[in-house]
Amino acid sequence: MKITDIRATTVALPLEAPLLHSNGAHWGRFVRTIVEVETDNGLIGLGELGGGGQSAEQQVTALRAYLEGHDPFELEALRFKIANPTAGLYNNRVQLLAAVEFACIDLIGQHLNVPAHDLLGGRIRDSVPFASYLFFRYPGPDAPEVRTPEQLVSHARGLKAEHGFSVHKLKGGVFPPAYELECYRALAAAFPGDRLRYDPNSVLSLDEATRFGNAIADLDNDYFEDPVFGLEGLHLLRERVGLPLATNTVVVNFEQLAANVMRRGVDVVLLDTTFWGGIRACLKAAAVCETFQLGVAVHSSGELGIQLATMLHLGAVLPNLTYAADAHYHHLADDVIEGGKLTYVDGRIRVPTGPGLGVRLDREKLAKYAALYQELGGYPYDRDPGRPGWYPTVPNQNWADPELPLRPIS
Ligand SMILES: [Mg+2]
Repeated sequence: MKITDIRATTVALPLEAPLLHSNGAHWGRFVRTIVEVETDNGLIGLGELGGGGQSAEQQVTALRAYLEGHDPFELEALRFKIANPTAGLYNNRVQLLAAVEFACIDLIGQHLNVPAHDLLGGRIRDSVPFASYLFFRYPGPDAPEVRTPEQLVSHARGLKAEHGFSVHKLKGGVFPPAYELECYRALAAAFPGDRLRYDPNSVLSLDEATRFGNAIADLDNDYFEDPVFGLEGLHLLRERVGLPLATNTVVVNFEQLAANVMRRGVDVVLLDTTFWGGIRACLKAAAVCETFQLGVAVHSSGELGIQLATMLHLGAVLPNLTYAADAHYHHLADDVIEGGKLTYVDGRIRVPTGPGLGVRLDREKLAKYAALYQELGGYPYDRDPGRPGWYPTVPNQNWADPELPLRPIS
C-alpha cells in the first residue's frame, strides 16, 4: 500500500453559541481542516486538525511531495520524514504529522479490516467517559448567554440531563478570579457527588492561583488545570495548594515530560492527539506517566468526529485513564461524519468498532460546511468579538466585566 495523494478541505461547523476563553473566543463556529490521504489500493484515510480558527489547507497539501509513495504502515519513518525534530526549528509540523498519522492508522485499519484500537494495544473499555466542558458564552441563535452562576448551573443541568455527565469542567480565565470562584462553587453546590475541574488557561498569577486553589481545596476536584503558565510556576504552585495540578499546555512533548518527571510541576498530563503529534505519541507518553505515577486524561482541541474518533481509540486502550476525557463536541450543531454526531450515553461515548478510525465522511455535509467556510472565512481565536482591541497578558489582570450582559455577536 502506497500513498498516492493528500487532499485537504476546510470546513466551518456552527457551534450552539460563541464560547469565551482566556485568550478570546470561538466565534460561533469551529474551523477545521479535514485531511484525506489516498492510497494505490483505493483506500482513503481520514485526518483532521484545527489551527486557531484558520485553515491549514495549504500546509497540508504542501506535504504531497513528502508523502507520495510512502507506505502508511511506516509510522516511525513518517515522523522523521515530515517532522524531524531539528528540521522542525524552521517548519514546525507536529500538528500536521498528527493529522497524517490519524489518516495512516485509518488506512492500516481499513487495509487489515480491524479497528484502530486493535492496532494500538486493544481496547480495555468499550466507551470513554467525558466531562461536561462548560464555557461562559455569548447567546447563540437558540442558546442563552452563560455569564452568571445561575446561568452556568442551569446550562450544566441541561447538559447533564441530556448527556449524563457526572464530571464538570469549567473553562475560566474570562472574568475576575473571585467571580469565577463563585461560579465554580455554585456548580459544586448544585451537583453534590459529581466531580469538578477548573481551567483558566494559564492566566492567573501565582498568588491568585494560590488563593483560588486553596479556596476550592474542600471540593471534589479532579484537578486544577493550567492555573499558571510554565512548569516552574506550576511547580511552585503545587507546593502551595493541596490539590492535583494538570496541564495540556506545558507538557506536550517528551522533553517537557522528562522535565516534569524530574521536577514535578503537574500530577496529571492531558494528552492531546494533535498537540503531541499523533495517537501513538500519546500512548508512549501515557506509558511514561504510568511508570512515574502521573495521571493522564484525554484533551480536547476542538474536534469534529474524525479527531473525536482518535480520542476514543486512545481512551479505549489507556490502562491508566482514571479521569474523564474533555470534548468540545457537544457544543457543535452538526458533524461531517456519516450518521451524524456520535452520541453520549450516561456521559460516555462508545468507541467506534469499524475498520480504522471507524468513521467515514458524509460527502454532502463536507460540501455544505466547506461552503459555509467559503462564506464566513476564518476567525481570530485569540480575540474576543465583544471587546475589540483587547488582548490578555499572562498573568492577566484585564478581565471581562461580569456585570455586563453578553449580547449576540454577528
Ligand atoms: Mg486546558
